[in-house]
Amino acid sequence: MVDFALTEEQREIRNWVRTFVEREIMPLEAEVLRRERRGEAHGLTGAELRELQSLAKKSDFWGVQTPTEYGGMGLDPVSAALIEIELGRSFVPFRFGGDADNILYHANAEQRERYLVPTIAGERRSCFAITEPGAGSDAKAIRARAHKDGAEWVINGEKTFITGGNEADFTMVFAVTDPEKGANGGVTCFLADREAGWRSEPIDTMGEWGPASLVFEDVRVPEANVLGEVGQGFALAMKWIGRGRYLLPARALGGCERLLAMGVEYAKTRETFGKPIAERQAIQWMIADSQVEIEALRLLVLHAAWQVTADRDSRHAQSIAKLYGGVKANEIVDRVLQIHGGMGYTRELPIERWYRELRLLRIYEGTDEIQRRTIARDLLKGHVTVGATLG
Ligand SMILES: Cc1cc2nc3c(=O)[nH]c(=O)nc-3n(C[C@H](O)[C@H](O)[C@H](O)COP(=O)(O)OP(=O)(O)OC[C@H]3O[C@@H](n4cnc5c(N)ncnc54)[C@H](O)[C@@H]3O)c2cc1C
Repeated sequence: MVDFALTEEQREIRNWVRTFVEREIMPLEAEVLRRERRGEAHGLTGAELRELQSLAKKSDFWGVQTPTEYGGMGLDPVSAALIEIELGRSFVPFRFGGDADNILYHANAEQRERYLVPTIAGERRSCFAITEPGAGSDAKAIRARAHKDGAEWVINGEKTFITGGNEADFTMVFAVTDPEKGANGGVTCFLADREAGWRSEPIDTMGEWGPASLVFEDVRVPEANVLGEVGQGFALAMKWIGRGRYLLPARALGGCERLLAMGVEYAKTRETFGKPIAERQAIQWMIADSQVEIEALRLLVLHAAWQVTADRDSRHAQSIAKLYGGVKANEIVDRVLQIHGGMGYTRELPIERWYRELRLLRIYEGTDEIQRRTIARDLLKGHVTVGATLG
């Protein structure tokens, strides 16, 4: 039997988050939009975010996937995806507190105290820096160098498009330590505090929050700041990137649900030529196609999350969910904008904001083309066979 039912616990978690989003997050939307339109702030202020996170913590929503020994909820990937879908229903960029990048768990005992634990507690902020001006999809082409000088490593190079790079207290930065080996054993990950001397410059984007470029000029870090093993940084970077690709389309799915609901409402009330536009087949088809794609995406996301839960090799399923989510979320937001006509194009409604934000999904953490490359390669090399999804 194939069972699509959620467990009682999953339903309770989903319902709690749905209510939290409706009661606490959605009421902030108008103000968030107003501020962003005036160029005053992006999303929530730090104080607002912390207040909401503390409120959620009172109901034990803290560290969704953080292991329980670090005070987190330690939830399974399917539950995490269900939560992300609910959070995606608002464009306000809220996330529960109490988490840390997955590769920080590779820290040794001393690094855990200095980096991992304070990050989970919300006292320190990190960023993940691999992309460079000359190395994005082709991450193996990074050029940033680190050489040993006594008991220190000296880092030189530039990183670009680093999420959170303007706010971070420390970065997990990847540099070549053995040019001959390159990505095959010659790249190392360093924990570099901002005080070590790297600079960040904001990058203006079409989205509401900007990544940063990071500049390293003779930045010195002690040997003790190597994360994992010297030379094993590339494998670590791939673990970070693959940590939860299903969560990105999950968030977009929540946005699509909200957008489609807006489209349905508008179609029922907007009249042209004496009838609501909902009665026109052209509009009905946009609504129908969007609903079909939303439901297909839900299954792809939950299937990928289930594979992670079951400790299967989930990379193929995650690439499929990420690719389909990126492409379809962009088509859906475009249709909903179209249903709203001129109003959809204005800044009175949040549709254009979603339109700009969802566009990123087709680029970061593996572009559409790179996901297609992975999916096709898996088939061509025989790692996966057509039609074998259910075993
Ligand atoms: C807002 C934002 C936040 C980001 N956050 C981070 C972060 O926190 N940390 C980090 O390290 N990086 C981050 N990135 C970088 C992001 O991962 C890269 O932008 C992405 O991997 C694409 O690399 P690129 O921009 O260099 O494009 P390129 O790799 O130069 O690609 C350009 C185009 O060519 C296509 N292409 C490339 N190779 C192939 C191929 N083999 N076959 C077919 N087509 C191909 C691509 O799909 C794309 O369409 C972020 C980017 C953005 C925009």
